[in-house]
Amino acid sequence: METRIALYPGSFDPFTLGHLDIVQRLSPLYDEVVVAVLVNPAKHALLSPQERVRSIEESLSALPNVRVLCSDRPTVEVARAVRARVMVRGLRSVTDFEYEMTLAAGYRYMAPEIETLFLPARPEHGSISSSLVREIFALGGDVSMLAPEPVLAALARHTPKGD
Ligand code: ADP
Repeated sequence: METRIALYPGSFDPFTLGHLDIVQRLSPLYDEVVVAVLVNPAKHALLSPQERVRSIEESLSALPNVRVLCSDRPTVEVARAVRARVMVRGLRSVTDFEYEMTLAAGYRYMAPEIETLFLPARPEHGSISSSLVREIFALGGDVSMLAPEPVLAALARHTPKGD
């Protein structure tokens, strides 16, 4: 039987409780879930790719069928490389929906054999985003309600504002 593999791609800068919830819900649905930290070298990131991978791995250590990788390749290439049949995206709002529909259309042109699957965010996670975490962190605020413990530890090694 074919192994059912799902790819969950994102910037994850940083990984939040909303992202964590999506992976926890996906894990029982697939044989394997691959979380892909996609790196855009042109974009300044708060956490390095290595910090992101490590903190995500630690956040997901209880889920044996989940692995984390990092890539600077296009999402569909990563999906093909890991033999994923679906790419999963989370939806929080109508704004996400419009953006994600366009993205999914692009993915379909590039890789018609791979499906995009949307999972709705839990209502209580609807306003959690990586950018919110970055903004609050830059202002020296408390982000402990927004991200898992290993991510908070990675953030703590950075000084707010900048580096
Ligand atoms: P991007 O790949 O656009 O940089 P992110 O790394 O922020 O996006 O997020 C990766 C995926 O997780 C996206 O599909 C995004 O919509 C989804 N997502 C982000 N925040 C949440 C949340 N709070 N709950 C559920 N899904 C989310």
